[in-house]
Amino acid sequence: MSKEVESRGRVPDELRRERAGARVPDSNAVPIQATRELLRIVRAAQPIPRVAVARRLGVHRRRITVLVKPLIDSGILREGAPDPAIVRRVGRPAIGLSLKSETEFLIGINIGVSQMRLGAAMVDGTLLAEESIPTPREANAALSEIRTWIQKQTARFADRELVVVGISVAGPTDVEHGKLLYAPHLGWRDVAIAERLNIHAKVLVENNATAAAVYEAQRRRARSTTRNAGDFVLVRAGTGIGVGLVIDGEVYRGTTGPDIAGEFGHMTIVAGGKQCSCGNFGCWERYASTMSAVELYSGDRSRASFRSVMTFDEIVSRASAGERRAQTTLERVGTHLGIGIGNVICGLGVPDVVLSGDLLRAWKFIQEPARTAIAMSLCGKLSRWSLEAGDSRGSELGGALEVAIEYYLSLLAAKKVAA
Ligand SMILES: [Zn+2]
Repeated sequence: MSKEVESRGRVPDELRRERAGARVPDSNAVPIQATRELLRIVRAAQPIPRVAVARRLGVHRRRITVLVKPLIDSGILREGAPDPAIVRRVGRPAIGLSLKSETEFLIGINIGVSQMRLGAAMVDGTLLAEESIPTPREANAALSEIRTWIQKQTARFADRELVVVGISVAGPTDVEHGKLLYAPHLGWRDVAIAERLNIHAKVLVENNATAAAVYEAQRRRARSTTRNAGDFVLVRAGTGIGVGLVIDGEVYRGTTGPDIAGEFGHMTIVAGGKQCSCGNFGCWERYASTMSAVELYSGDRSRASFRSVMTFDEIVSRASAGERRAQTTLERVGTHLGIGIGNVICGLGVPDVVLSGDLLRAWKFIQEPARTAIAMSLCGKLSRWSLEAGDSRGSELGGALEVAIEYYLSLLAAKKVAA
């Protein structure tokens, strides 16, 4: 993929130009990408000593001095003794770099099928406020609730500036223009969210599988000793299924037009199968989502009626209590999940898969059938692969906030280097 493509919609113009190969004005200039990687590592592992940052970036300590100085001078980073509570908890060395986060805040909003999760956080991810409200059926009503909530937080944290709002929703989006293209489970189409909110902050609208992938990439940076989060596929399975792809630490979102990469939930796995909300038949998410588990458990009753008699969580409780019918249901969902994951691994050539979303609650029952199905696929036989459980917060508020933080760090890196 081209450098232009991998950065589209995710980063400020300055970084996009640098990655597309625009000439750096002089050889001593600090590349935006290096500053961005440094900020990401500090955000994930703060407080972190300079020597550890140098090791992870694979550069000499002198280079770190060049990168860090303008960030400290302009009040983006601080260096010193960390919070004593952190030392007690993780026993880190006393001196480290961390993000200064006294003057700004960010908002993350996950629009789920039944709940909207809204949160405000500092640049380092520390939560300032969090709330869940039922998702209104109409997009207009939802936008009006969101706008009111944002105004409330802006007034509440008046000593801080709201810099970025990250919104995650299940369906293809146009991140850069802050648009939702289609959310089949909500029945919303072409909603110009950023334009309609009309606030003085950048608004990003991200597919929630991609948001969960951004969140997992951050978690990987937090626990790794390497430069970036590497390559992995994130499968978010809840009411529907979405896939996020991270290559060399960067989210991949397709080559042109809207950000539609990862819509594997609507690949056909059963010819002439059950009808999907997208209008097609036999889509993967009709067989490996929480909704499909409810449907399978409830037999042939209509979709409207089974929803009221049984929830996915009840099926998981029954399976945990030893009910065979519930266990078989979840095992069949696990098999279908694995069949689809085998296809995704074959199609993308990325063998490490992280599962996120509400389906995780049945991890105990679905993981073995899923592994068996992956192992049966051609690529499962040819290549090493892995399937692990992610953090469920990634497909909820955590992912939406991380999208905002990630963009803001890129913005800081671009401004600092341009200054
Ligand atoms: Zn479909």
